[in-house]
Amino acid sequence: MSCLFCKIVDKEIPADIVYEDDAVLAFRDINPQAPNHLLVIPKQHIATLNDLSDADAATVGLLSVTAAKLARELGFADSGYRTVMNCNEHGGQTVYHIHLHLLGGKAMGWPPYSSTLKTAIG
Ligand code: 5GP
Ligand code: ZN
Repeated sequence: MSCLFCKIVDKEIPADIVYEDDAVLAFRDINPQAPNHLLVIPKQHIATLNDLSDADAATVGLLSVTAAKLARELGFADSGYRTVMNCNEHGGQTVYHIHLHLLGGKAMGWPPYSSTLKTAIG
């Protein structure tokens, strides 16, 4: 299996793991975009959101439940945070094993495009 995140699940590649159970792994992003930037992934390999089936609903739901628990444990649940899943090229996905980004510890902008682009798209 050549998938980077499967290798992290299998402990073939080191990661700063903050949570693990039978179905889910959470670890710190190697290039953090916030004081706390975690990736919450299913241990099962699913390449993109487009590859989900109805049978994956519980697994994907666990990612959000785990992210919310971690935000509480890490102390930024009340101040707030963002969860994001990117899909394919236009979504900005670079690792093709689904992952929920959990970003917390600073105020983030919204919407996620520049004022220049906003003008361009009207
Ligand atoms: P995506 O762009 O696919 O939504 O997010 C992939 C994330 O994985 C990026 O934020 C990137 O920094 C992170 N990442 C890529 N390679 C590694 C790695 O080897 N270890 C860790 N911990 N994070 C990684
Ligand atoms: Zn994988």
